[in-house]
Amino acid sequence: MSHPIDDAVFDLINTNDPEAGAILAAEQARQAHTIELIASENHASPAVMHAAGTCFTNKYAEGYPGRRYYGGCAHMDEIETLARERAKKLFNCEYANVQPHSGAQANMGVFMGLLEPGDTFASLVLKDGGHLSHGMHLNFSGKYFNPVHYPLHYNPDHPRHEQIDYEAVRAVCLEHRPKLLLCGYSAYSRTIDFAKFREIADEAGCLLMADIAHIAGLVAAGEHPSPFPHCDVVTSTTHKSLRGPRGGLILTNDEDIFKKTNRALFPGVQGGPLMHIIFAKAVAFGEALRPEFKDYQKRVKANAATLAGALTDLGYRICSGGTDNHLMLVDLTARNPELTGRDAETWLENAGIICNKNGIPDDQRKPMITSGVRLGSPATTTRGFGEAEMKRVASFIDRVLSAGLKGEDALAAETEAVRAEVRALCEQFPMPGAG
Ligand SMILES: *Cc1c(COP(=O)(O)O)cnc(C)c1O
Repeated sequence: MSHPIDDAVFDLINTNDPEAGAILAAEQARQAHTIELIASENHASPAVMHAAGTCFTNKYAEGYPGRRYYGGCAHMDEIETLARERAKKLFNCEYANVQPHSGAQANMGVFMGLLEPGDTFASLVLKDGGHLSHGMHLNFSGKYFNPVHYPLHYNPDHPRHEQIDYEAVRAVCLEHRPKLLLCGYSAYSRTIDFAKFREIADEAGCLLMADIAHIAGLVAAGEHPSPFPHCDVVTSTTHKSLRGPRGGLILTNDEDIFKKTNRALFPGVQGGPLMHIIFAKAVAFGEALRPEFKDYQKRVKANAATLAGALTDLGYRICSGGTDNHLMLVDLTARNPELTGRDAETWLENAGIICNKNGIPDDQRKPMITSGVRLGSPATTTRGFGEAEMKRVASFIDRVLSAGLKGEDALAAETEAVRAEVRALCEQFPMPGAG
């Protein structure tokens, strides 16, 4: 049923600790038997997962290659250098810091390295696709810095409705004169025009930062335009479309920015780097440098477009009119004004389809209810889903939501029917390591 190493790892853990082993078995079964549509998730390869479970976890390596605070770091230097070199090649830039524990930590490293407390930066209106580390009031970025926000176009008659309003970006920057302009989002389905952002940053005299956490895999494969050479600094996660271990990344072509953000990250923000994760990042970057990865990212985009098209045919509205990347925001109220993101998330999960409720641009409902769901194709594409399977996924979604509108009995019956079909489909397309 699963990869031989997974079996050996499971037996080892289960023999020592049946309580933890039972939870591992349950999660493995959940992932194997459900369709993962969360746009920020993926199925890492067995090589990447097991790389994260090696003896590199035992080692302290505070500092950077060649300048460590501990002995015994020869192989730490080798693996961190390998990860850096591969990251630079993948993203076509001069400098890479592979130590951020996560995407938010990477952003913190940049903010602490390039801004002073109280400095102004500009980012997208958070509820319309930004990330909490782009200025949310409870986050370090909103508490210790001064965010100002630029909007999307909010006019159904506008040809670029729900897409970035570059004129408004320019106006916000000229009015507030931020020290840094931030682009890159968590729920934006359109291509980002980095060259246009560069023009605005030059006009306003500010630094330009791209957070490519979501689209990193597409960028690495040349399936989304690169933020280089336009951006001064680029941050990312490694676990979303890039399909590596859970972690972060800071990239730049500027030696001064590299030095400042390095110092801000360590000793400024983090202590010892997660060397087992850096080892797994190197393995994942190696996978992403292979030709198959480009083919994978092409299929990710094709699958997202197929799902968006099929949902549109069923009466749903894809925000901004479609997708250029791996994700989409679905306006459920176009199908039926009674539908909410909260209900959809719950009903679909019960049927074995995992996604998250998400506000749509200018959503009138509260964040815990919402009018939409965010769907992405990276994980299903990793399993091998193609056009036919994505069309079936759209039909599963509509069957469950339509039944939910009819009432509890209809929903219970359809949930059971769809769950069985989902499970059969998942068995036909096993997740990596479970084949
Ligand atoms: C996911 C995401 C992050 C944060 O990543 P974590 O690893 O969860 O900290 C940062 N920025 C954007 C745009 C994201 O989508």
